[in-house]
Formats: sequence, structure tokens, C-alpha cells
Amino acid sequence: MQIENYQKAGKIAGEVREMVRSKDWIGKTVYEICEEIESEIQKRGAKCAFPVNTSINEVAAHYTAEPDDPLTIKDNDLIKIDLGAQINGYIADTAVTVCYDAQFDGLVQAAEEALGGAMSMIKSGVKASDIGRKIETTIKQMGFKPIANLSGHSLDQYTIHAGKSIPNIWSVGGFSLSDNSAYACEPFVTTSEGGGFVRNGQIKNIFALNSRKKTKNEEADELLDFIWENFNMLPFALRWITKKYEFKKAKELLDFLVKKKAVQAYPVLIEVNEQRVAQAEHTFIPNENGVTVTTAAP
Ligand code: MN
Ligand code: MN
Repeated sequence: MQIENYQKAGKIAGEVREMVRSKDWIGKTVYEICEEIESEIQKRGAKCAFPVNTSINEVAAHYTAEPDDPLTIKDNDLIKIDLGAQINGYIADTAVTVCYDAQFDGLVQAAEEALGGAMSMIKSGVKASDIGRKIETTIKQMGFKPIANLSGHSLDQYTIHAGKSIPNIWSVGGFSLSDNSAYACEPFVTTSEGGGFVRNGQIKNIFALNSRKKTKNEEADELLDFIWENFNMLPFALRWITKKYEFKKAKELLDFLVKKKAVQAYPVLIEVNEQRVAQAEHTFIPNENGVTVTTAAP
């Protein structure tokens, strides 16, 4: 059953997110963090829906650890940990911002309040633009800025961004939430000095299959099959390929597949004024009386 799979995945993702929230990650490398969280998801019987994202400070999203990535968490860093679990392709997408420096508590609280406010107004038929308005108002009242060009999204089996956006600001038009469809809501917040937008960075360490068309390079085609069999159309990291391939070979073949456009590489997203960004995210399914937040805290 679709709903049961969403709920199973959500329960696991919610448990792991709360573990992430309560833990002290200072001094750990992002490689250690990603691997530990991914193994917690798998231990509970789900697959990872995408590589754990550990986006630090002004990096808003889409950073995952490289193999043996030495980047280490410092005591005043603000880290968005975004994780995904899936059962039979039905995804739970959730995020928390961890930070151990009290001067950034307001930023983290604004993301959480905006998400909570959005969740409390959801039932089927609610307009996505009204959710965006609620998120924007909540964040601005607390003295911060929403990131206007990042948004929540509809979800579908093996598809994280299934075509519909839930904005983090009020916007014209849009759609109304449907009964028994899955969505993710994810307010991103920056300081009043922030531009309120993200731009693409240079680093690209999250990938996804674009096409299964053969490249005529036998080794690359084998890797394409490996990707399809293990990750379907969902995002993956080089770390996940070096479990089977030697590092140099994996990197060379992956670069080739990106060049051939068989694989898409996603850049990290950075706040335009290099201001810190906080995020909170839940996956939910609306119904006519309200909402099931699949990733709710246990
Ligand atoms: Mn997410
Ligand atoms: Mn998401």
C-alpha cells in the first residue's frame, strides 16, 4: 500500500532526524556524519532516498560528503542535515538544522516555527500560495528572511521533485493540495542581511540518472546498470559507488557519464550574500480533516 509505505519511511526518517538533532556533531567529519546517518536509516529497514546532505553555514543545500571527506564541524557552524528514507520508492524527506552557538538560535527557531505554522494549516484543498504566505509572514515577524528560490515539492514513487512546488513566500497562482498525495514543506531562512536567494556553487557532489541510453563504453554502461539497479532515478553520491568500484575508476566513469549527460550533477546552493541559512522540513499527506505528518517526531 502506497500510504503504508509512506508512513513506514516517514517513521524511520523521523526517528533518525530526532537522533541527529540530539547529538553533538562538533569535531566529526561530514564523511563520518553522512555514513552514520545513512547506516541508521538502513538499520531500521529503509533505503536512503538520497545521500544525506550536510550543508554548512551559507551553503543552503545539496552538499554531501565526498569519499573520506575531511571537512570537520566547528563549534560555531550551523549545519542543515537533510535526510531521506524510502520503502519501495515511497519517500520521506526531512531536515533539521543543528547548531551549538546560541547566537544562531533565532535563525533555527524561525525555520522550525515556519514549518510548524505551515503544518498546522494543512488539509486537502489548501492553496500552496497560502502556505507560502504563512511561511513568509512567520519568518519576517521573527526578523529574518525566507529564501525565495527554494521551495517544498510534491513527491511520487522514486521521484523527489514530482512537479509541484510549495513556495516559501507568497506567490501568485499555484495549485491546491490534493487528498492522499505526498508533499514536502521546507522553509529556508537567512538573516536580515541575506539576499534571500541562493545561487549555484562550484561543487557538485550529488548525482542522479538522467537516461539509461547506452554510451557504447562498456565499463560506463555497466556503471549505468549499477546505478539503475541500486538507486533507480533517485540521487546518489560518489561515496555510494566506491563501495563497489575503486575510487579512481569510479570518479573517471562518473565524470564520463556526466559528460555524456547520462547522469546529472547537482551544484551546491549558496546564499547570495553568503549569510547563514537554517532549514526545517517535513513530509506530509493532507486529508479532508487535516494532515498526516509522516516524518513527525516519535
Ligand atoms: Mn530534504
Ligand atoms: Mn525536500
